[in-house]
Amino acid sequence: MHRLIRFSLLAGCLVPALAVAEPVSHPSTIEHHQLTLELLPDSHQLIATDRVTLSGGASDQELAFSLAPALQLDRVQDVTHCQDPCESAPEVAFERDGSTGQSEPRRVILKQPVTGQGGGVVRLKFSYHGVIDDPPRDPRHLRFVTPSETSGHIGPEGVYLSSESQWYPDLDGSLATYDVTISVPEGWTAVTQGAPQSDPAHWVVPTKSEALTVVANRFVVKSRSWTAKSGQSIRLATYLFPDEASLADEYLDASARYLEAYIPLLGPYPFSQFAVVENFFSSGLGMPSFTLLGSGVIKRHYTQPYALGHEIVHSWIGNGVFNRMSHGNWVEGLTTYLSNYYYHELVGDEMQAREQRRLMLMGYSVYVRPGDEYPVKQFAQKRDEKDNAIGYQQAAMVFHALRQEVGEAVFWRALKQIPEQYLGAVADWSDLERTFQEAAGRDLRWFFAQWIERAGAPDLVLSGLRLQPLHGNSGQANAIEAVVHIAQQGLPYRIPVELEFILTEERTHRVRIQLSKAQEDVIVPLAERPMAVRLDPDIHLFRRVARSELSPMLNLYVTDAQRTVVLPRASSDQPNPFADIVQRITAQEASKPAAERTTVRQAEESAGPMPAGSLLVLGGPGENSPVTEVLRYCGDRLRFTDKGFAVEGKVYEGATMALLLSCRRDDHPGSVVTLLYGVTPQALTRVARLLFFYGWQSYVVFHEGAVVARGDWEDRMIAEVRIETR
Ligand SMILES: [Zn+2]
Repeated sequence: MHRLIRFSLLAGCLVPALAVAEPVSHPSTIEHHQLTLELLPDSHQLIATDRVTLSGGASDQELAFSLAPALQLDRVQDVTHCQDPCESAPEVAFERDGSTGQSEPRRVILKQPVTGQGGGVVRLKFSYHGVIDDPPRDPRHLRFVTPSETSGHIGPEGVYLSSESQWYPDLDGSLATYDVTISVPEGWTAVTQGAPQSDPAHWVVPTKSEALTVVANRFVVKSRSWTAKSGQSIRLATYLFPDEASLADEYLDASARYLEAYIPLLGPYPFSQFAVVENFFSSGLGMPSFTLLGSGVIKRHYTQPYALGHEIVHSWIGNGVFNRMSHGNWVEGLTTYLSNYYYHELVGDEMQAREQRRLMLMGYSVYVRPGDEYPVKQFAQKRDEKDNAIGYQQAAMVFHALRQEVGEAVFWRALKQIPEQYLGAVADWSDLERTFQEAAGRDLRWFFAQWIERAGAPDLVLSGLRLQPLHGNSGQANAIEAVVHIAQQGLPYRIPVELEFILTEERTHRVRIQLSKAQEDVIVPLAERPMAVRLDPDIHLFRRVARSELSPMLNLYVTDAQRTVVLPRASSDQPNPFADIVQRITAQEASKPAAERTTVRQAEESAGPMPAGSLLVLGGPGENSPVTEVLRYCGDRLRFTDKGFAVEGKVYEGATMALLLSCRRDDHPGSVVTLLYGVTPQALTRVARLLFFYGWQSYVVFHEGAVVARGDWEDRMIAEVRIETR
């Protein structure tokens, strides 16, 4: 058994939360840890004692504690019947198993049964010391930021001890409270969960947690006593390095703003402190009562809803109510829904809220290819963009569908009941289903079966609009019926969807209809003749959008099954920023089967017809003849000038300008042609390095590597059909 840490990635940053291990078969669990911890960064050492309180009538059964093999266990004492310091309490014999294989976690096994009187509480004191020295390694990824990898580190650059470090004795499945006293060298501050007491080295964690994370560094500490409108008092704090200390108020203000927004929705904040803590390696980790962010992230003002807002929602969802990954992961979907998406609705920004819904459909449609889907319930943790699209975005939109299904009042009432009922405990999808079902007072099994247990998403085709005289004409003059034909690809979903009839240039009429069949003629009475009908104009329904209907962008190139890079003619006297791009692509694809790799072509070889699939053309018209293909697909959107280029007629000229632009290959539906062009090679140096961060837009114009213009060609996400004329 080992502890599980969930790493997840959103908007380029990682947002992990704790998850709970499998339930234990034996009844003994740790209820409470009373830890004293001395950290010696210069020698990578810790010296510790942990008095653990066991419940479950600690038993005749074998107790096997996890503890890092690098830590030397000096003694175990039975302190059930004595008061501190218990120096003379009886010792308990133990052995360490797992002598086979270094990588296996080794257990501390007590060689004699410990039994409380009448099967009651047992207290054991562990005294141990040792070295934890696993310096963070920077993982290399082409497309996104991931956390540096470490199982824990004590060193002069900082201390990070997580559940993976196994730095204190633990029993699998325990949810415990903690009392910790941490001593650090002069000038250092330690931070952990819960809140500091009058002695700042003493921390109390009264809420049950699966694991305790401790960090320490030379922090500048700033704190604020803050009272929410609900009356709850919370200590807000920042622990930042001197270079970033001036950002403290920005983070404290944003923390207060999000707590004020989410307390009314989720109930009392589960802890007495919320802290933003700077990390000595790259991370975006959410712990109960604090978030641990790398310096790069802190510097970038990480206070957006998808960033700090997301971390704060995890205080309830994930770090207050726990998730059991072996039973699926609802925590990321709900957190994403409430922070990344719903915050915009909450502050009344409907434009941004709609944009977020659009991005969620787009993310799914780009990264989850038809046939590659898996059910939301199967998502456990994120390894790639596809997992993100299903486990975060699709799952978030499942909550949006649920809200539409049960209505506002029921949805928000049931949501608040989740922390009310499960704080300090685990909840699974089935618990959510029960909670919402009880609040709604009706069966929702079909809803959860459809949305989380089935792979895929609704895929609708709006294919016809005709008119007929109103059925059983009731005397209304001019009254007619519109007949709209809608097909569902694959197994049909039971879903509501909005239709918008365009009556005149200015006026529209909207109706909400229910779909449930593979082919349906939906009949809508209208007072006047419509010109056209549109499907789901505000994008409230989560569904698959065909690749050919999305705006062209680099990410369509990236996710195309067939990709070709066309390199410009080599010119030896110039620096070549393109070589670096190709090198990175090749390195990242090295482990893929040959058929899935990118084809690399030289401009000189490209005299014949261009291959099918998506093309990435590097360089301008002088150096890469296939640029003429780009011009053909882009039509009058792109034009080269003497000193630069023009996008949709707007001219950009000068040695510092560069362009990334994609157009549809209408002869290969779903594929694109993407151009990366710099007026000079120097204009591309920075762009080339960050190229894949600009994947969501049809065009991006750069000046000295900084974005000066960007935009999308129209998407066809909202299907529209005009009236059939006979
Ligand atoms: Zn998250």
